[in-house]
Amino acid sequence: MQATLYTSTGCAYCKKIKEFLTENSIAYEERDILVEPAWLDELAKYGIFGVPALYFGDEWIIGFRPNKMKAVLAKLQESGAIAAAAPAPEAPAAEAAPAQDEIFVREVDTNKLWDVVVIGGGPAGASAALYAARAGHATLVIDKAPSTGSLAIAKEVENYPGVQGVTGAELLGTMQGHAKAQGAIFLQAAVLRSKLIGTEKEIETAVGTIRTRAVIVAAGARSRKGKIPGEQELEGRGVSYCAICDGAFTRGKDVVVFGDNAEVLEEVAMLATFAAKIRLLTPGEKLTGAAPEELAKLPESVTLYPKHKIKEILSTEAGGLGGVKVLTPTGEETWEAGALFLYMGGGAPGTSFLGDEVPLDAEGYLVVDETMATPVEGVFAAGDVRKTLVKQAVLAAADGAMAAINADRFLRGRKKLSAQY
Ligand SMILES: Cc1cc2nc3c(=O)[nH]c(=O)nc-3n(C[C@H](O)[C@H](O)[C@H](O)COP(=O)(O)OP(=O)(O)OC[C@H]3O[C@@H](n4cnc5c(N)ncnc54)[C@H](O)[C@@H]3O)c2cc1C
Repeated sequence: MQATLYTSTGCAYCKKIKEFLTENSIAYEERDILVEPAWLDELAKYGIFGVPALYFGDEWIIGFRPNKMKAVLAKLQESGAIAAAAPAPEAPAAEAAPAQDEIFVREVDTNKLWDVVVIGGGPAGASAALYAARAGHATLVIDKAPSTGSLAIAKEVENYPGVQGVTGAELLGTMQGHAKAQGAIFLQAAVLRSKLIGTEKEIETAVGTIRTRAVIVAAGARSRKGKIPGEQELEGRGVSYCAICDGAFTRGKDVVVFGDNAEVLEEVAMLATFAAKIRLLTPGEKLTGAAPEELAKLPESVTLYPKHKIKEILSTEAGGLGGVKVLTPTGEETWEAGALFLYMGGGAPGTSFLGDEVPLDAEGYLVVDETMATPVEGVFAAGDVRKTLVKQAVLAAADGAMAAINADRFLRGRKKLSAQY
């Protein structure tokens, strides 16, 4: 056996790892923690409290880490411990989602004047790029960290029309590949500052200043994960983001959950089938979007703590979860926690690069009209970066299409919008 993979039924990333192992002809033993609870205890011996967990080449790989898996595979192939796999048969182009390094370049010609620059390569940005490029405009998408946007981190997307059983990263890769095939260029770089007033707009990035005639801001509204001190170090070692994957590790434990919106209720209901006690902390008065009836229906083992925040996640000497420092309305307390689940969505849009040229609302969202135009000529916004009632990939993609159609109208000097077919 060349690898051992610990999984749980229904865990989307476990499926992805199995595909990777199969594609690379790596023999592995699967250990589903929901089928055989002894595997839970075995993982716990190594201080691991999350799946997927892969033991491969004398190393533990916790979570879905494609680059790490590739690196271990390359090392084993180089040392001769594993034979290099025969190339896999080519998948039909329409179904294959290209890897990010096939989509993104690291530099572009900074002397070029672009027609449209899209800031952000999520569903809003990719859709805007598809429409802009298809309309014949020289289109550049700039994204600082393509694997960290909201859709990129979604474990499983079941509600994007026409697509089923995919991870957010796969769906996004397909969208970006589609826009690229129409001629859009994707650049990986952070946008630092911008000058957007006037006919020639300047966007300052980590790899130089880029000039363009129109801008579509699609920078999303996701500013978290890894933000709480101690969080990154303890991911998979007591800190988790997925009840369906890691709920079984909480059997009989006292669990702390920190969330700020109604999505967390479904996760808590799943955890309650395992955990002895759940303390659900939320930073505000209530969970955004949660109806009072839903709160009334919380299992008895769950206690809601409004106006509580996690300040720090503590480690044990052995590197496991030691507890949490909690900011309560009256001060600071240290709580024990058998496991910690984090569901802090949203966050503020990261639009500081806009300075004060483009109006933002009180929460930092861009203000647009129904055609996605901001009050600044030639500047449009799409997706979660604008104030929306509901944040969903399909809505972000629709915004991107509208923004690009309007940018096309602007670039061609037309008065009215017209649909592209
Ligand atoms: C955990 C999770 C699960 C979800 N599951 C679903 C689901 O199942 N179905 C569904 O429809 N929706 C889901 N959503 C919501 C959906 O993912 C978002 O509504 C959607 O991704 C918003 O798209 P966007 O393009 O506006 O922003 P994002 O997808 O967040 O993309 C924004 C991009 O902008 C880039 N960026 C930000 N600042 C800069 C900068 N300064 N310079 C360069 N680039 C920058 C970021 O790197 C990022 O890639 C989920 C969201 C989360 C957080």
